[in-house]
Amino acid sequence: MIYLDYTSTTPVRDEVLESFIKTTKNFWGNPSSIHKLGLISENLLTMARGQMKDLIDAKNYEVIFTGSATEASNLAIKGICFQNATRGKHIITTLVEHPSVFNTFKQLESEGYEVTFLQVDKDGRINVEDLEKSLRDDTILVSIMYVNNEIGTIMPIEEIGEILSKFPKIAYHVDIVQALGRLPVRLADMQIDLATLSAHKIYGLKGSGALFIKKGLMLKPQQIGGSQEFNLRAGTVDVPSCVALAKAMRLIIEDIDENYKYVKRLNIQLRKILSNYQQIVINSPIENCSPFIINCSLRGIKSETFVHAFEKSKIYFSTKSACSSKKNEPSRILRAIGLDEELSTNEIRFSLSHLTTSQEIITFENTLQEVIKELK
Ligand code: PLP
Repeated sequence: MIYLDYTSTTPVRDEVLESFIKTTKNFWGNPSSIHKLGLISENLLTMARGQMKDLIDAKNYEVIFTGSATEASNLAIKGICFQNATRGKHIITTLVEHPSVFNTFKQLESEGYEVTFLQVDKDGRINVEDLEKSLRDDTILVSIMYVNNEIGTIMPIEEIGEILSKFPKIAYHVDIVQALGRLPVRLADMQIDLATLSAHKIYGLKGSGALFIKKGLMLKPQQIGGSQEFNLRAGTVDVPSCVALAKAMRLIIEDIDENYKYVKRLNIQLRKILSNYQQIVINSPIENCSPFIINCSLRGIKSETFVHAFEKSKIYFSTKSACSSKKNEPSRILRAIGLDEELSTNEIRFSLSHLTTSQEIITFENTLQEVIKELK
């Protein structure tokens, strides 16, 4: 099998799974219990939070464990909006966010919030001047993703943080899901107030995510019940998942520089191959783009037909992002960067990892030659 879909999800690392199993077997006490078993679990939780904070320059933040990045972003966005509704109802995001953010803004818009959806250029980047111009006295939230999950564009997160630092009443939320473990993430230094992450994108477990919140920032909880997770996410905490998430984060960040350089080389190799075919249009920009993602459109070939043709050789990649790949509609992201209906519909996405080998790319190339001949 050749897996080129690491943006959709990643396989769990052995060490991460082992730490999940070990914690599940040995430390199964409820961290809210006041007896010894509970205290041991609570200590594990505190240790996991501490490790995670150290890894992304977040000493002055709280970590709220959630069941996914989707849940974390919902908590961040609705939590800020409902907490501050009397102060203002203007919120800002981009046209190219992941559905977990984009559709949450859409829902809030339908409930009376005024949303500015920032346009992007042909590379998928917002213009920071547009953002500056859209700020108002009643703006309460700006949410911008770090790395676009469909085309890989890197947003000017630090620059935006710098601008928003002059507006302390505006909360700055960043979806760091596709950046974590791949690009530098330093929450305090980047002046980010809230950050969302997901374990299954960093060789961790599915059903596990987290929201980092700058201390002192008030949010309205979205799940009501007990007082777990600083009163922000009721429900008994899944300690083994939290411990495993901290481990996954540590392991991926440990090798970040080495992996980046390695994947950059694979990216160049794959781009070169793809650019030999007039049927393939590469959409991911060269500048300001994560080397882990290469998005393309197909001319005169349906993306489903293409993906299934490779499946026969056990080569797997996406038609578009996993969250929207079952819908045969033009991609909202490719539309936003100005592509026509055909190119926006016939989208494919390759995503790379430190686990990808150069030989796999060569095997892909050989299969590509055959597939193109076959589909002619
Ligand atoms: N944000 C981005 C940028 C993503 O790529 C994804 C997953 O595809 C998510 C959020 C949602 O993550 P989860 O599956 O943990 O809800």
